[in-house]
Amino acid sequence: MVGVPMNFPSKRILFYSLLAGLFTLLFLLLASCLSSFNYGIGDFSPIPAIIEVQSATPMGSPSEGQSEVLVSTKDKPTPSLEITPDHPLIENTDLTMKSSVTLVTYVSAPVAAATPAAKGADQPTIKPTPSAPKVSIPVLNYHSVTIDPGNIVVISPAKLEEQMTYLHDHGYTPVSLATFISLIEGNGSAAAPEKPVLLTFDDGYIDNYEQALPILAKYAFPATLFISPGMVDQVGYLNWEQIKKLHEAGWDIQPHGMTHPHLPKLSANQQAYEILEARKQIEEQLGVKADVFCYPYGEFNKITLKILMDHGFRYAFTTQQGYATDQQPPYQLKRIFINGEEDLHSFIKKLPKHD
Ligand SMILES: [Zn+2]
Repeated sequence: MVGVPMNFPSKRILFYSLLAGLFTLLFLLLASCLSSFNYGIGDFSPIPAIIEVQSATPMGSPSEGQSEVLVSTKDKPTPSLEITPDHPLIENTDLTMKSSVTLVTYVSAPVAAATPAAKGADQPTIKPTPSAPKVSIPVLNYHSVTIDPGNIVVISPAKLEEQMTYLHDHGYTPVSLATFISLIEGNGSAAAPEKPVLLTFDDGYIDNYEQALPILAKYAFPATLFISPGMVDQVGYLNWEQIKKLHEAGWDIQPHGMTHPHLPKLSANQQAYEILEARKQIEEQLGVKADVFCYPYGEFNKITLKILMDHGFRYAFTTQQGYATDQQPPYQLKRIFINGEEDLHSFIKKLPKHD
């Protein structure tokens, strides 16, 4: 039997085995092709579509690990919100969140020089062709004045006093908002104060009355206070009586939105309410013009600019870093953030060099 060719049934079995093997191989090849094709689609399909599906899943759902990754991608804040917000309000008593947000904000802000959300928007410009600014004024941006170590948006009374003393001893002149405007508009040359600076305080914290006012009063320094009337009387914030006393002491009181909202997230009507109602309440309470706006979180869009223009606002301050100049669009004036954790040397470096 050895060496004799296989008999017929054996050949048949071998033939069918080979055929089955071939089909198996073909099937595996086909399956592999299909599967890699699916991966290809997965990789290039628009991510938002996947995110939308995932967003229907309740947060913390234990179903898929992958969904968490996708959701966290969605939750990542957009760069425009990271670069220019001013800070969370004090009512956000979660200190961890407060510090983490502000760190992102201000560590990058001076370098980033924040491109405005609404760059190129139709709005009045002071001069059509950019040239070297004739007027350049540091507008210092303060918030809360109290003791809160580690929080860069809060400055201690001792440090504020040290800075005010420095300004006084080195011939700087904190000016009123009216003087600032006349300087920017080139009307103040005859009586231009020496080394003008504008001191601004955002949000209307009660410590501005209790701590900042007496320190500034020592040198008869005026300041500009941007308040959200919807926050007035709330814990940690000024009441109208205190605001009136600040006003009588030479502080200019101007609007910062009714409720300190993220304006670009609102409809045109909601934005108009936030901006106009804040102005109305300040004007009614104090009997003054309140037509210089300050963007909450430094955020604005084309709608914001149109509302300001349509309703006759004169200027608006951002959180973009730099000196305010006569070359900047009037609704995009820059300021200098004062980091409450920095020492006097860093503060001095933020001021313009004088001969
Ligand atoms: Zn604010």
